[in-house]
Amino acid sequence: MAEKVKDATVHLDMFIDGEWAPASNGEVMNVYNPATGEVGSTVPKGTAGDLNAAVDSAKKGLEVWRGMHGAERARIMYRVAQAMRDNADELARLESLNGGGSIGGALHTINEVAARRMEYFAGMADKILGDTFVAPDEYFIYTLREPKGVTGHIIPWNGPLWTGSRSIAPALAAGNSLVVKPSREAPLSLLKLAEIAYEAGLPKGVMNVVTGPGGEVGDALTSHPDVAAIYFTGSGATGKRVLEMASTNFAYSVMELGGKSPNIVFADADIEPALYGALWGIFANAGQICVAGSRLLVEEAIHDEFVERLAELARGLRIGGPDREADMGPLISEKQRKSVMSYIEAGMNEAELVVGGKIPEDPSLQGGYFVEPTIFDDVPTDAKVAQEEIFGPVLVVTPFKEMDEAIAIANDSDFGLASAVWTSNIKKAHVVSQRLEAAQVYVNHYFSAGFEVTRTPYKASGFGHSEGAESISEYLNTKAVSIKMGE
Ligand code: NAD
Repeated sequence: MAEKVKDATVHLDMFIDGEWAPASNGEVMNVYNPATGEVGSTVPKGTAGDLNAAVDSAKKGLEVWRGMHGAERARIMYRVAQAMRDNADELARLESLNGGGSIGGALHTINEVAARRMEYFAGMADKILGDTFVAPDEYFIYTLREPKGVTGHIIPWNGPLWTGSRSIAPALAAGNSLVVKPSREAPLSLLKLAEIAYEAGLPKGVMNVVTGPGGEVGDALTSHPDVAAIYFTGSGATGKRVLEMASTNFAYSVMELGGKSPNIVFADADIEPALYGALWGIFANAGQICVAGSRLLVEEAIHDEFVERLAELARGLRIGGPDREADMGPLISEKQRKSVMSYIEAGMNEAELVVGGKIPEDPSLQGGYFVEPTIFDDVPTDAKVAQEEIFGPVLVVTPFKEMDEAIAIANDSDFGLASAVWTSNIKKAHVVSQRLEAAQVYVNHYFSAGFEVTRTPYKASGFGHSEGAESISEYLNTKAVSIKMGE
């Protein structure tokens, strides 16, 4: 058994070929608890050789998994989903230890997103159909939809079970085997998931999880000639490297990258929910959410009062780790905090600081990587803080006069991941939704209600179908078989 608890730290090994495995060179790496700044866990510092072993195992697993009837794959996936629910407390503890978020939030992710996705795609495993075309006296043509093969899944540190299950569940339903590479900051919950899935009946080698430095293990995965497809969630900078390496073997790639999402509040909106939408849109998970509403556009007629009330709510947020009743947790690492603080410094020269802007002074928070909820107002649209993804609790506010101006500001971004519009005018809601360049538009709420519908990122936020039934096509090849008819 891989788990040892020593000096209050948790250790999990890698999960390769149906068993726990240390790094082949025996090395481990520290994973810091962001709420305390102490080492919270250790995992193997895997190597390119370990990654190759995982791919070898996945090749064998593939033969078993793809050969099964879809109904049998579905049955196993339903058992995995149930096992996730049965082990939700343990998964949540590990996710929260790594990410610093609340246990309640992690439980919600596990039960309402990760296990649900497993069930949703389990239901598709025996409904993967092809097409037929008949040209009388000429050809009978049909298509076969086949798994891509060994698939690589590269997962970021923010919500590993949330982001991970998005590609893991459809990949399994389609009959692929997996090599998963979690982030070095948050590997535990995905390691545990591999064991849970194996014990629930997933055959050996179908899901392997390899930890290690992103550069070495990541490059080994993306350039491996036997890896047919890469599903990457992370930053644009790493995404470019992944594409470069994947191109060596023309591996199929799907990219889920960053965002700088506009949250547009019109004067005719129901103000109370809009205020809370703006607040949680940016301060949930300390702003470390790809679809965070990090740019707030407020119509001039209500701007001053809206920002004042929002600042008041932000001042009242309780900061702290999962061990206390907190509204906002830490950033993931000291490196991330430094990056966020440097953006705040840039913002001081570009706009008016309304609230926050500092590391909290509370002595009990000193070890962790906390930053105060921060709001800048009157931010020019070309400011660095208005254009770049900060990935922290920093909101930039820009006033606008009318709808066309709001849409122009909203679309003046390299990114196109999410957006929101708050209005009581149904026509305006539809018009703005159609004109926004983003994969999602939330109307009178923030954050998507569900994953049952497919979306595709715009611009530098990536490409490929994600979520919903349509996304299963990202995990399948389509083969056309044509049979000559007639004599
Ligand atoms: P990151 O790009 O630093 O890392 C992502 C993953 O890539 C990690 O597992 C990392 O170890 C790995 N990696 C590093 N070098 C690699 C290499 N050479 N080859 C292969 N893999 C390598 O991103 P992060 O800091 O972990 O996450 C934050 C970013 O992720 C933000 O930009 C955020 O917007 C984005 N994100 C996007 C979505 C989405 O759905 N679009 C969801 C969550 C996060």
